[in-house]
Amino acid sequence: MPDTRYVFVTGGVASSLGKGIISASLAKLLQARGYKVTIQKLDPYLNVDPGTLNPYEHGECYVTEDGAETDLDLGHYERFLNVPTSQANNVTTGRIYQNVINKERRGDFLGKTVQIIPHITDEIKRNIKLLGSKHRFDVVITEIGGTVGDIESLPYIEAVRQLKWELGSRAVNIHLTLVPYLAASGELKTKPTQHSVKALLEEGVQPDVLVLRTEKDLAPDIRKKVALFCNVDSRSVIQSIDVSSIYEVPVKMQEEGLDEIILEKLKLPVDQKPELKDWKSFLDKLHNAKKVVKIGLVGKYVELNDAYKSIIEALIHAATYNDHKVDVQLIQSETLTSENIADTLTGLHGILVAPGFGHRGFDGKLLAVQHARENNIPFLGICLGMQTAVIEFARNVLKYEKANSKEMDHTTAYPVIDLMEDQKNITDKGGTMRLGAYDCKLNKESKLSAAYGQDCIRERHRHRYEFNNEYLSAFEAAGMKATGINPDTGLVEIVELPDHPWFVGVQFHPEYSSTVLKPHPVFMAFIKAAINETPNTKQ
Ligand code: GLN
Repeated sequence: MPDTRYVFVTGGVASSLGKGIISASLAKLLQARGYKVTIQKLDPYLNVDPGTLNPYEHGECYVTEDGAETDLDLGHYERFLNVPTSQANNVTTGRIYQNVINKERRGDFLGKTVQIIPHITDEIKRNIKLLGSKHRFDVVITEIGGTVGDIESLPYIEAVRQLKWELGSRAVNIHLTLVPYLAASGELKTKPTQHSVKALLEEGVQPDVLVLRTEKDLAPDIRKKVALFCNVDSRSVIQSIDVSSIYEVPVKMQEEGLDEIILEKLKLPVDQKPELKDWKSFLDKLHNAKKVVKIGLVGKYVELNDAYKSIIEALIHAATYNDHKVDVQLIQSETLTSENIADTLTGLHGILVAPGFGHRGFDGKLLAVQHARENNIPFLGICLGMQTAVIEFARNVLKYEKANSKEMDHTTAYPVIDLMEDQKNITDKGGTMRLGAYDCKLNKESKLSAAYGQDCIRERHRHRYEFNNEYLSAFEAAGMKATGINPDTGLVEIVELPDHPWFVGVQFHPEYSSTVLKPHPVFMAFIKAAINETPNTKQ
């Protein structure tokens, strides 16, 4: 669309200030006014995508419907906007360079010296504009990862400078900084913000709006001071005060008038302030829930909340709509033993075994599944968690000695989870798993068919290994049913134990598609079961 508007969100002073949440909040507010909005994340690292990153590095890898392995901020975008993102919404320096170098090898620049400016910056600009032109968005919000002043982000800021010049009032920059509070002197300090804006100015970009993260309210004189030093009007100095839930940020940003200022600067009509009714009623439920449902999240990356971001958010959505607060207890599977398992899992209303790769902490996951199965505790296994449930059942019910996934034990006599033929010759690690959305047909009698209220679903995947159908009839005869099947390949996507109050394993990742206004049916049913079916877990 020729008149797509562009909002660039940069950050300064410190990392992790929440550019993703500010971007998603602004997008939400513009969407509520009827604009067609999307958000894009530009990541300044050299990995082609975050799929090859250990979750300890950047948190969870978020998967889009079209099978892109992306930054976890895209999860926020979808949770806030309720609109799917795609490969085009996340671009890394690695991908930019790969594209430019491929073009160079093809001869596209024949005779020319290929340089950061203009070739890399042109490729960045092409990727920014692609969303607007191809998908006809009214507003594209582009979040630049990293912090202004970093060597890595220089080409991105240069691309922003060029685009602001080319697009005039169709492009604005929001710069997010931190105003620290010094408890000893009882003062809020604006100097880091001034310096950060200077760094941005040195790179040729004048911010249009400043969003200041703060733990205390910013008095008008502080805003005026920042405005004076940073060449912005004081209405355009906006505070983003710490809140108890990220889902309050859109409401706070609306109170601060962020969306109005941006629309004015982009020369778009402002019209009436949207009520955000559904959003606010979610927040009311979130804040007013009194009863607590306790869920044990068993995984190996529990030291870092971000590793299971989408799962935790999906649990919050589902608990809120079930009028409960969720208390997610992160349980390090490496520490679980047959001696401590009962004590560690006591008092939990539901047990979720997380996705993952490799054998670290795998034995503990098996113990957690066995505990949930034998004690009738509602259980949800996601991806590796589902595979663990299959292996546990093979070992302890079918008595297949040392049954395993080929991922964990190459020589197992009972490979109940195995690599499919089309994965066997793959050697590259990046982008080669079963990725993205696949159809699944549900068994009408199953718990998930009741939860979804439909027979055909489509969910996102990210794994290499699959249930081995050679064992399917033995599993079904012993009581573990395959209740969801891929109609094209016959692959097992869901297993359930009909004799258990609620025991479900899903090969796909329902957490990626739970949003604030559309909690996911699998999590809704799991939480409902955890609330209603909780047995006395003390033994
Ligand atoms: N490691 C398993 C596989 O590749 C599961 C992956 C996951 O849990 N995302 O199949």
